[in-house]
Amino acid sequence: MVDRKFNIKYDFISGNSSINWSFPEFANCPLCTADKDLIFSIFRKSGYIKLSREIGEDWSVAVIDHPSPIVDDSYEGEWNDWPLKSEPAKGRHYVIALGKDHIPFHELSKDTIMEGLYAAQEVYKKFSEINRVVYIIISLFSANGYDIKGHPHFDVIGLPYIPKIIGDQLNGFRQIYEDRNECPVCDIIKSEGNSNRIIYSNENWLVVIPWSPMKYNEIRILQATHYKQFQKLTQKEIESLAFMLKVVGASMGKLKGHDYSIAFNLPPPKRSTNYFHMYVSVYSTQTVEDALYNGYGILLTDPDNSVKDISRTFRGVLKDFVGL
Ligand SMILES: [Zn+2]
Ligand SMILES: [Zn+2]
Repeated sequence: MVDRKFNIKYDFISGNSSINWSFPEFANCPLCTADKDLIFSIFRKSGYIKLSREIGEDWSVAVIDHPSPIVDDSYEGEWNDWPLKSEPAKGRHYVIALGKDHIPFHELSKDTIMEGLYAAQEVYKKFSEINRVVYIIISLFSANGYDIKGHPHFDVIGLPYIPKIIGDQLNGFRQIYEDRNECPVCDIIKSEGNSNRIIYSNENWLVVIPWSPMKYNEIRILQATHYKQFQKLTQKEIESLAFMLKVVGASMGKLKGHDYSIAFNLPPPKRSTNYFHMYVSVYSTQTVEDALYNGYGILLTDPDNSVKDISRTFRGVLKDFVGL
């Protein structure tokens, strides 16, 4: 399918990873023609959410293979251990088209967002069963549409490793559980009480401005109850989450000059991690590449070209300085 080598590279100094990939330019929107490459679609019948393997005129959410995936089982690459660790960028990457219109995320109806979350649960279950998939990212890179022609969508990415930000959180939660027998999210919910950092809550979710955010303009949507896996959220819970995402998104959309992203902070699907407490992070982004870096610690980069550019520039500057 692809003749380039795609690697995941690991940096033992920072703990971050990078993948050589850049956002593709499409001549036509691949999501408007989702029926060509459809995996499944979601539609409503008599008020109930239904899943179909075929696409009809009435789809509201459609799932396809990403036409230019970040990770894919067909990719070749190099295996290296130490200290320049790399592996082929193998995995799965689906796109969930949210509705048929090119509009910002927060202008979607609550129902469309809910159907998108339902589709994400289905993809999550499917990816969980793949041997090589160790972690599953669910993310909205660009709410204002700087990715895939402005067609709103979720990216679901099955990775062969746990990305740094998630790995650090898992270690942190486990340590707190071992030391104190407590969950930081549950305890933060308790101690925030009626504080003005809790901007909205219902029986399922709380919308919280973090005490100490880790991203610009970060808002977190915390699950009200401890440890329930994403794929097991009920329709009522995802409906309520869809509403929160729409309202939080509409608020973020009012911040002038900013785009925003959404990252689901979920535990890895195959590990026993009942010390973890899922939440969704919504945050400002400058570029689409920031979404994965700020959300998960994964840098999308083209290291071969940037190495060439930087070293050529450096040699030019050096020449001027030392007069060679
Ligand atoms: Zn489109
Ligand atoms: Zn908890």
